[in-house]
Amino acid sequence: MARYIGPVCRLCRREGMKLFLKGERCHTEKCAVEKRNFVPGQHGKDRKAKIVGYGLQLREKQKARRYYQVLEGQFRSLFHKADAAKGITGNNLLVSLERRLDNVAYRAGFAGSRADARQLVRHGHFLVNGKRVNIPSFLISKGDVLEVHEKSRGVTRIAAALEGVKRREIPQWVELDAGAFKARVRDIPARDDITAPMQERLVVELYSK
Ligand code: SF4
Repeated sequence: MARYIGPVCRLCRREGMKLFLKGERCHTEKCAVEKRNFVPGQHGKDRKAKIVGYGLQLREKQKARRYYQVLEGQFRSLFHKADAAKGITGNNLLVSLERRLDNVAYRAGFAGSRADARQLVRHGHFLVNGKRVNIPSFLISKGDVLEVHEKSRGVTRIAAALEGVKRREIPQWVELDAGAFKARVRDIPARDDITAPMQERLVVELYSK
């Protein structure tokens, strides 16, 4: 599966905000957004024009994609499913992004970043309701129990991420039992539970053109 392999801090600088793509480093003063928060590129510092209309919608979509580390095709397909489902399309879209297994593993504190979570999932380190699942886009449901495989509990990255959990918040809808390497999904997150800095309305407007 294709994935972005370029410099990730550049993506945060392009969006003008922290997207937390690098794990622990994002919480230190080494973060590129802390040091030089302007658009990357030779003339980045001089770009002052306000983005409006299509440009704003495009930026919002890119931000959402980058935040959740989802490729364009996958993002568009999630949008179409969200559009076909009952309820508000933007909310449906954000909730399905939030329910992805790689995101839940990250939110629960088993990985330092979504990219890390994605790799850990691909490598089969997690069980969902006792069964190994290695598909990052697998959608978690209410009551599901995510667990680190017994053989993977010594993996340094997982231990380090659990240690780093104190630095960031675990959402209300996830109940972590760090000692047992388990997390239970209390409920499907509602829009208000999702802290992602998105204006999903703009993404819907972009795809509805
Ligand atoms: Fe983004 Fe993290 Fe890099 Fe900061 S350190 S720019 S939050 S990826």
